[in-house]
Amino acid sequence: MATAEDILKKIQDENIQLVDLKFIDLPGIWQHLTLHVSQIDADSFTDGVAFDGSSIRGWKAINESDMMMVPDPDTAWIDPFYAEPTLSMICTIKEPRTGALYERCPRAVATKAIDYLKSSGIGDTAFFGPEAEFFIFDDVRFDQNEHSAYYYVDSVEGRWNTGREEEGGNLGYKPRYKEGYFPVAPTDTSQDMRSEMLLTMASLGVPIEKHHHEVATGGQCELGIKFGELIQAADWLMIYKYCIKNVAKKYGKTVTFMPKPLFNDNGSGMHTHQSIWKDGQPMMAGDKYAGLSQTALWYIGGILKHAPALLAFTNPTTNSYKRLVPGFEAPVNLAYSQGNRSASVRIPLSGDNPKAKRLEFRCPDATSNPYLAFAAMLCAGIDGIKNQIDPGDPLDVDIYDLSPEELAKIPSTPGSLLDALKALEEDHEFLISGGVFTEDFIQNWIEYKLDNEVNPMRLRPHPYELSLYYDC
Ligand code: GLN
Ligand code: MG
Ligand code: MG
Ligand code: MG
Repeated sequence: MATAEDILKKIQDENIQLVDLKFIDLPGIWQHLTLHVSQIDADSFTDGVAFDGSSIRGWKAINESDMMMVPDPDTAWIDPFYAEPTLSMICTIKEPRTGALYERCPRAVATKAIDYLKSSGIGDTAFFGPEAEFFIFDDVRFDQNEHSAYYYVDSVEGRWNTGREEEGGNLGYKPRYKEGYFPVAPTDTSQDMRSEMLLTMASLGVPIEKHHHEVATGGQCELGIKFGELIQAADWLMIYKYCIKNVAKKYGKTVTFMPKPLFNDNGSGMHTHQSIWKDGQPMMAGDKYAGLSQTALWYIGGILKHAPALLAFTNPTTNSYKRLVPGFEAPVNLAYSQGNRSASVRIPLSGDNPKAKRLEFRCPDATSNPYLAFAAMLCAGIDGIKNQIDPGDPLDVDIYDLSPEELAKIPSTPGSLLDALKALEEDHEFLISGGVFTEDFIQNWIEYKLDNEVNPMRLRPHPYELSLYYDC
């Protein structure tokens, strides 16, 4: 654990002139402010550094705009994407008058989720391991004027133009449909970029494991980082996205984490592995189904019961629901199973090692704000354990192969962001009863998503509607 003194000493020893303070906004994007070192002292780490919160999406009104960002010394690293040596730190937001955590700060919500786990007596540590997939594209062109939302689509393949086709260049060695996972170069064209992405995040202290191309045709990739404690895992995921986007930019490419950028090809998920520990002991391993404990089964019961509401945080964009359709390795049905990737909760085979026993919730995608998504999943799990929610029988068949009659018995994921938000409106006691989220947070989230995403999308004619209806 680093202290404020450690950071101030590092600044002096390494003659650093600039300190960059980063914090996560409500939808999940890093915002930042760069200070000259003269503006940082020991008090900055307790009282925080003042900024105007009124222009931050979904936060304070203009008449109460002052806020404090408090840097976490454990998150200090030299930012590799800045020309001047700059020490970067991740912040949590506090209220200026009371010094209390700001209730709409996602990192503060995550802090309260861990407090809730501890006070429940169920555990003291929650580990999260997200696997965020993404696409690398050459470019994206879309007309963002207020009347339309068109993007440039390659006319031959019906795919988003990746640039290569346009140049009329070499179309050889392209991965075949759904065969991107994972031939070597020259079919794999992003090896060097992925290596640089992975090694860059390692240099920032993120424990790295692997990288590879993914199933979809056009440059879909995944990098593997180690699981971590809830807040650290969310911090690492932010560093992950930051490194991936900025290294891609260096190569003249862009990256998107949106769940379904390409029609009719695999989307990008963020499967999230999770487990609870207490006094250094894993709580998920036992002698029940798939080597799980009763606690783990109840945790799954909580996740499945609350999934429709949970998805308002784990799959929080209108695009999220274009991924959750049959046939693309994305979960559609709310069921659990060992090893079965068509179930929304999978229990990975972990041999006899109880420490590796965990569940993988396969619904989430990387448009989620990881602090909110992890906190919400933990709340659902805790609710499952507290109320001993039975997850029912496991589903050890390929759900995609079931008959319509059998399928009808299995609840499915919401069909749209609107449906998920409606479910959240109906079912959020499990999020607020432990003091993790507040009623204000939930209502603000629903309102923010409706006003800024659901309704603007609903009001715009879609390009495909033109092809369906233009000649009516
Ligand atoms: N891309 C798939 C999804 O949307 C997952 C593919 C995989 O990693 N097996 O969840
Ligand atoms: Mg993976
Ligand atoms: Mg994957
Ligand atoms: Mg996975």
